[in-house]
Amino acid sequence: MKSIIIHGGAWNMPEKLDKPHLRGVEAACKVARDALLDGRGSLEAITDALVLLEEDTTFDAGVGSFLNAAGDVELDAGIMDGTTGDYACCGAVSKLRNPILACKRLLEVSPNKLLVCEGMHIFAREQGFTLIDNDDLKIEREIERYEGTKLPVASYFSPSDTVGAVAIDDGGHIVAANTTGGTPGKPSGRVGDSPLVGCGIYAGPHAGAAATGLGEPIIKTVLTKRVYDYYCESNDISRATSAGIRDLAHHGWGGVIALDKHGTPSACHNTTKMPHATWDEKSDKIEKKIGNPRC
Ligand code: ASP
Repeated sequence: MKSIIIHGGAWNMPEKLDKPHLRGVEAACKVARDALLDGRGSLEAITDALVLLEEDTTFDAGVGSFLNAAGDVELDAGIMDGTTGDYACCGAVSKLRNPILACKRLLEVSPNKLLVCEGMHIFAREQGFTLIDNDDLKIEREIERYEGTKLPVASYFSPSDTVGAVAIDDGGHIVAANTTGGTPGKPSGRVGDSPLVGCGIYAGPHAGAAATGLGEPIIKTVLTKRVYDYYCESNDISRATSAGIRDLAHHGWGGVIALDKHGTPSACHNTTKMPHATWDEKSDKIEKKIGNPRC
């Protein structure tokens, strides 16, 4: 069964941000649904959806991302294909507008699967992607946040509004992906969990998962691979996401979205909010939620 789940970050976001986040994940879910209904695969559906969110300045992905300690935007993104086990990811890239598209190309054409900084820029340029000025990714809101440095220290280590998705298509191909600007004020060169296989993303023949929240505890938990393994043991995707977040809670804050091989979605988080949207072929309805108190 064709199915999609999209997240827009996990954190204790103020109420005034609820609507734009819900609008964004809903719009991305529609784009992915249309791609799947057009007979395009889950990889295409996911990248279409995430490009839309990279272009939406509501989110900490692509244009409008948080600035790092040096006042620059550095982006991380990753994709994993559950059928082949292939993955492609990049870290700390500063000259790509849509890193998720460059990751898709890396997945398709390169034997090397994780490129960082200048290495990813060189690959992307060789593949015909335009390299941009880092200033093109910066918006006024984030420049002011950076210049004011009014952030309480704790918020430098807070989760943010990263975006990610998991989809399954007619052929049963499950793909998981994330794209992010990382945490606000992060040191240059810091890469979080979002692009990393087993941490921020995991997909296999039975399920797929994408995580969001504070990267370092998610990496420590190896969160998405744990969710996958819990699913394989229990055949219950809700139990699997809950168990994963229970484990994460020993180390920190975040959330995870997942789909099983039947297209059943699940979302769980230990932050107060995690905007997310789902669609499946059977119900043909897009449902969106900001919190999931029962997970
Ligand atoms: N996990 C991301 C990071 O630590 C942030 C997020 O998901 O909001 O870079």
